[in-house]
Amino acid sequence: MKLILLGPPGAGKGTQAKMLTDLFNIPQVSTGDILRAAVKEGTPMGVKAKGFMDAGGLVPDEVVVGIVRERLQKPDCAAGFILDGFPRTVPQADALKDTLAELGKDLDAVISLEVDSEALVERLTGRRTCRDCGRGYHIKFDPPRVAGKCDACGGELIQRDDDKEETIRKRLEVYQSSTEPLISYYRKAGLLGTIDGMQDIQVVKKEILAALSVA
Ligand code: ADP
Ligand code: AMP
Repeated sequence: MKLILLGPPGAGKGTQAKMLTDLFNIPQVSTGDILRAAVKEGTPMGVKAKGFMDAGGLVPDEVVVGIVRERLQKPDCAAGFILDGFPRTVPQADALKDTLAELGKDLDAVISLEVDSEALVERLTGRRTCRDCGRGYHIKFDPPRVAGKCDACGGELIQRDDDKEETIRKRLEVYQSSTEPLISYYRKAGLLGTIDGMQDIQVVKKEILAALSVA
């Protein structure tokens, strides 16, 4: 399964990707996660990316395209992958097409998760992530059993630096101007499936599986 999860920040891409990864036994390729790891490690790429990320903008196309090109060539992507947060611009989508052609691969589907803007703000301000294992939560919609602690590993739950209301508004604007055009891009390519992402997490998962005809 070679899949793209498309949608605005907070649509539930990461939440769904983690579940699909377990089901299909293929990796989640999240450019946001890869960039955050680079920022944490202080690599040259991380240092370059940090300013764009803190401002709620996009990291330059050539940087993220390079990350994905390298990642898709790793052996664990041989049976498939779930792209989460990439592509985010038309040039990135074009570069992905070229990379996949070089690797002799085709996308199976692009699933677009649709969620209202105000719901996105509430989702992002309430998002928490385990510092140790990366599992995601929401303080209201998907709370941990013990406040502030990961159910899976007991790690501390933290809030992302860019999940502040002001940065969130900027990220949503950037989504509309740079990423939303990809919906028609992939519709024209005959790859698009649209899911109502306002529904419960498990219902969204069921509908994604139905759209992929594997339910
Ligand atoms: P994305 O990866 O698209 O930015 P996430 O998967 O991190 O979004 O989800 C953002 C927040 O919303 C998280 O806190 C997550 O727990 C919560 N969430 C995800 N899907 C749903 C849903 N269907 N209903 C309510 N909250 C959700
Ligand atoms: P995410 O975790 O997907 O919400 O991404 C967090 C941040 O990382 C974004 O706001 C961007 O600054 C950066 N980023 C992630 N993926 C991309 C991408 N495909 N293109 C450009 N910037 C990206």
